[in-house]
Amino acid sequence: MHALSGVPLAPLTTLRVGGPAARLVDLATEGDVVDAVHDADVRHEPLFVLGGGSNVLCADEGFPGLVGHMAIRGIEARREGDCVVVDAGAGEGWDVLVARAVDEGWRGVASLSGIPGLVGATPIQNVGAYGEEVSETIASVRAFDRASGGFIDMAPAACGFGYRASVFKRSERWIVTRVTFAFPRGPDATVRYAELARALSVKEGGAAPAALVRDTVLALRRAKGMVLDPSDPDSVSAGSFFVNPIVDAPTAARVAQVAGVAPPRFDAGEGRVKLAAGWLVERAGFAKGHGEGRAGVSSKHALALVNRGGATSGELLALARTIRDGVRARFGVTLEPEPVLVGCTWDPPDR
Ligand SMILES: Cc1cc2nc3c(=O)[nH]c(=O)nc-3n(C[C@H](O)[C@H](O)[C@H](O)COP(=O)(O)OP(=O)(O)OC[C@H]3O[C@@H](n4cnc5c(N)ncnc54)[C@H](O)[C@@H]3O)c2cc1C
Repeated sequence: MHALSGVPLAPLTTLRVGGPAARLVDLATEGDVVDAVHDADVRHEPLFVLGGGSNVLCADEGFPGLVGHMAIRGIEARREGDCVVVDAGAGEGWDVLVARAVDEGWRGVASLSGIPGLVGATPIQNVGAYGEEVSETIASVRAFDRASGGFIDMAPAACGFGYRASVFKRSERWIVTRVTFAFPRGPDATVRYAELARALSVKEGGAAPAALVRDTVLALRRAKGMVLDPSDPDSVSAGSFFVNPIVDAPTAARVAQVAGVAPPRFDAGEGRVKLAAGWLVERAGFAKGHGEGRAGVSSKHALALVNRGGATSGELLALARTIRDGVRARFGVTLEPEPVLVGCTWDPPDR
């Protein structure tokens, strides 16, 4: 195994923050994964798997162990009944796969266009956008299980998929090496999100050509700084910094009462309600563009924290905690971060 020492993490992340990894190695094969786990274990070092770095906030101090940079490639597709079964290496670019799916008439992911990062990370937080979640098309996830010391193929039921959640999120047990998707075939995509339906002039629940859905989603995302774009300073982020909170009905009613207006709300099942974190953030006084310093709120989307240049992880975390505290003070709702914090903690130990 050939690991590099002292590799800065900031350039490997979309927030452009993070000190050096003590050691970093590319994971280009499943054999590399086995070697990296073995190497970290014999040295009693922590191991962190990094994909595209678009959902992490890495500490300025860096990472004191081995970072495995996912690089397993390869996409194979085969027809199975009415579906196309696609097996993709964890190191393939997610949006490259989505673009191909749209081109080839593989249905179910057009609304997930423009999400940065790699295929292997999509099950980790069950990526979702505009009414679709990746778990709807995942047939199985192949991973190295550090508990058993071998590879396993996990059916969706074993993955514990939920809203921005799975058994993999914030767990060091599994290293995803491949993801298998089962895509129904057809040129159209179902539109299940009001904002997208409006932009396409179709009814929510109606259908539209997948290529048009992809283009429309990309345009909507671009307007919010939610597509990585070197010319857009608002895309120097980790996407949404907070997950949309799921609350009980009385809490949702209290939020409406405090705000003096009904918040956007989505049914989360079992009588619970998903509120829009960005709406709460703005109404708690943190408008788009908030912040004087190097870390601020995106000028296009209240939910994204951006590194305006030279921000530290400490500055970003301080801003995030101020926003969390402001939302809690105003609405009694506690926001939780969506990105995975690497080498830093959300609640400092002295709290
Ligand atoms: C501009 C922007 C827009 C975004 N929009 C969305 C959106 O609409 N919806 C959404 O859900 N997310 C969104 N995100 C967040 C992010 O793109 C996704 O969560 C993405 O799946 C992260 O992929 P990654 O490869 O960059 O993972 P990383 O950031 O590298 O890693 C994230 C976590 O997954 C773990 N991980 C990564 N790969 C593996 C693996 N192979 N095995 C085990 N663990 C692994 C890491 O250890 C880490 O804990 C956005 C981010 C940005 C910057």
